[in-house]
Amino acid sequence: MEKKVENYDVVIIGGGPSGLTAAIYCGRARLNTLLIEKSLVGGLATYTNEIENFPGFPEGVSGLGLMKLFEKQAKKFGVKFKLTDVRSVELEDEVKVVETFRTTYHAKTVIIAAGGRPRITRAKDEEKYLFDKGISFCATCDAAANTGKTVMVIGSGDAAIEEGMFLTKFAKEVIVSVIHDTGKMDCNEIARDAALANPKMTFKWNTMTESFAGDGHLDTVNLKNLKTGDIEGVKVDSCFEFIGYEPNTEVFEGKVNMSKRKYIYTDEHMSVGIPGVFACGDVREKELKQVATAVGDGAIAGVAAEKFIAETEMFENQIMQKDKIGLIYIYSAIDAPSRELLPMMQEIESVFNGQVKLNVIDQYKGKSLCDRLGCDIEPMTTFYTKDGKVMDVCGQCDKKSIMTRLNKLVAQPVEVVV
Ligand SMILES: Cc1cc2nc3c(=O)[nH]c(=O)nc-3n(C[C@H](O)[C@H](O)[C@H](O)COP(=O)(O)OP(=O)(O)OC[C@H]3O[C@@H](n4cnc5c(N)ncnc54)[C@H](O)[C@@H]3O)c2cc1C
Repeated sequence: MEKKVENYDVVIIGGGPSGLTAAIYCGRARLNTLLIEKSLVGGLATYTNEIENFPGFPEGVSGLGLMKLFEKQAKKFGVKFKLTDVRSVELEDEVKVVETFRTTYHAKTVIIAAGGRPRITRAKDEEKYLFDKGISFCATCDAAANTGKTVMVIGSGDAAIEEGMFLTKFAKEVIVSVIHDTGKMDCNEIARDAALANPKMTFKWNTMTESFAGDGHLDTVNLKNLKTGDIEGVKVDSCFEFIGYEPNTEVFEGKVNMSKRKYIYTDEHMSVGIPGVFACGDVREKELKQVATAVGDGAIAGVAAEKFIAETEMFENQIMQKDKIGLIYIYSAIDAPSRELLPMMQEIESVFNGQVKLNVIDQYKGKSLCDRLGCDIEPMTTFYTKDGKVMDVCGQCDKKSIMTRLNKLVAQPVEVVV
């Protein structure tokens, strides 16, 4: 069966906080925007019951509630949503191609906001008990089902301890497996003190998961004591793993530059180094992976996509126009000699009686337009175009040589005056 093809200005891959924010910016800029999400709109932020550090919510806010607001705002600005997974991408050409099972999407720009997923311990038999068989990564989703039960939390970072505290509201006991010595945790001090004082929380210090066991459903986590080597089988009803994340970047391998840990490298404009391709949020190689930073990244990527599209249109339709012979003059507002030649350029345009179209570009304000013409352009460079193609370039041409070059391209040459 032939796949359907749909065209968009922007395709955003991933509907977590970064993708949703990019969508809000693109939608508000009236770009034809599609967001593709493979599981739950809201991403990892929906895994957490309460977000206490997102500005504007002094009493805290539920991850799911906050993400519903993001989604509503993006939809208000006309963003379309598709619930499916992106299987492959082609990003190098002017038209970007994003493939899903049923549809091929063509886009002027692509924003990768695919985030990450929780890491697993890789202990023996873990795969047998993932998700509905007893191993969970989401306290918000599964806490109520553990009311009155005994659960284990693996990890001691902020997410592990904060989600563990939340679980104590439902479970009768929360046993925390911590890799460090007694009292030492990776979380912030406030969370650590609260956890140590919580009567429902107990700790297995210096332990690592050796294996999981149970008859169809998890009932035992075997922990290895790293000091003694002893294995202890701990009876539990469920286990929650909070030991960090890994990026969802398999689809982008070989297409964009990545770190050793497979996070995507970007510059400060969220560009991955391919024109029109941006990445934002947890999928990037960066220091702090939080909702607030995902939102900042998404805003920058959305604006960058909008700017890229506007500049592409300007470059193709105005700078590289095909109606007349083009004279493109690069100057710098802070470089007096190049600025002073602007009237001369206008005079040359008029001498050619409508055969020549002059475009001037400020080297700093129009940096990306200069990049499209070629790298390291100096002020006072002139470009000569015909039928939308650069025919000639000159570094520091005087009036006579500019006119001579134009005379070679126009239908009716004019007298060269100096
Ligand atoms: C338990 C937990 C607690 C947390 N608590 C806090 C907190 O209190 N405060 C805070 O600021 N942050 C918290 N975080 C971190 C925060 O959730 C993340 O930093 C944030 O969600 C990152 O947003 P993102 O949009 O970059 O990525 P994600 O939220 O990971 O979203 C990426 C989305 O892309 C989708 N996707 C991936 N690949 C594809 C594909 N091929 N096709 C289509 N869709 C795809 C995924 O399904 C996902 O929905 C917590 C995270 C967890 C797991």
